[in-house]
Amino acid sequence: MLDILSYLPAKKKQTPSGWLSFNAVCCQHNGSTKDIRGRGGLKATDQSWSYHCFNCGYTASFILGRSVMFKARRLLTWMGVPEVEIEMLNLESLRHKNIHGILSERQQVWNTISDIQFNEFDELPPFAELVTPELQFQWDYLRSRRVPEDFPVLTAAQNDGVNWVRPQVIIPFTYNNVMVGWTARMLDGRSPKFISHSQPGYVFGTDLQHADWQHVIVTEGIFDALSIGGLAVMHNTISDAQARLIRSLGKEITVVPDQDPAGVALIDRALELSWAVSIPDWPDGCKDVNDAVIQLGQLGALLTIMQSRETSRIKIELRKKALVKRLQH
Ligand SMILES: [Zn+2]
Repeated sequence: MLDILSYLPAKKKQTPSGWLSFNAVCCQHNGSTKDIRGRGGLKATDQSWSYHCFNCGYTASFILGRSVMFKARRLLTWMGVPEVEIEMLNLESLRHKNIHGILSERQQVWNTISDIQFNEFDELPPFAELVTPELQFQWDYLRSRRVPEDFPVLTAAQNDGVNWVRPQVIIPFTYNNVMVGWTARMLDGRSPKFISHSQPGYVFGTDLQHADWQHVIVTEGIFDALSIGGLAVMHNTISDAQARLIRSLGKEITVVPDQDPAGVALIDRALELSWAVSIPDWPDGCKDVNDAVIQLGQLGALLTIMQSRETSRIKIELRKKALVKRLQH
């Protein structure tokens, strides 16, 4: 794979946190004066790299398995990487995308028909880097929420950033493996808990779906979706655009609401859409899919969801009533 380090200026320094600093290559292309104070920074692992310029503010990043995006392409060009090498990197990267991405091709046909499009968005907070086991706090948090280890999660290094001083993990929003937004989950217990860049009609988790899966599970939250391999609508309702996107996957849909008052609204919306709903009898303390995966394991949670799947409107109404009653106690 393209060795980005071999394209860096000869004169560079390494910080204790693993960042290489050197004269930035971006500034003169962005209307700023050329950097002579070593204000460009790059951190690379064998699966990703992230670039940040403290002179003109330019950022770019790359994650193996995702497309090489516009800002990363520009940066590589400025570094002197030939166009053909960039194209090779892109092809190689997409070959590495996990099996889940095989869906892409069929998906693109659907998208053209249903006019589903999101703009590429690859602005990340300064010094965003891939969470690896060395970043123990973030790594442990992700494992405790049962996020699959091969799902790329980022974090903005707190010691280097000025604005991103709160500990957080950043979940990239992708669609057909192109980054179209992200959400940062703050880990300090203060609010706001999430800071997000999203686009109308976006549904998280389409890139988690396997081509050979018949079913798709629709949940409310990012961690619900990540832990079960489902989708997240990120609200307690489903917009028309989101519904179109979910239908475009061509799978059997099951909505699993949070078992709280807000979740009841999601059940009503699922009824409107005539989608199946599952309200499993989970152990005490489980109020959403992520809780269930933590307590029962992914397979266990999946079984409870499929066992309680209801397609009949009457049965869903009865289940909903039982839930409402349970919530009042
Ligand atoms: Zn710059």
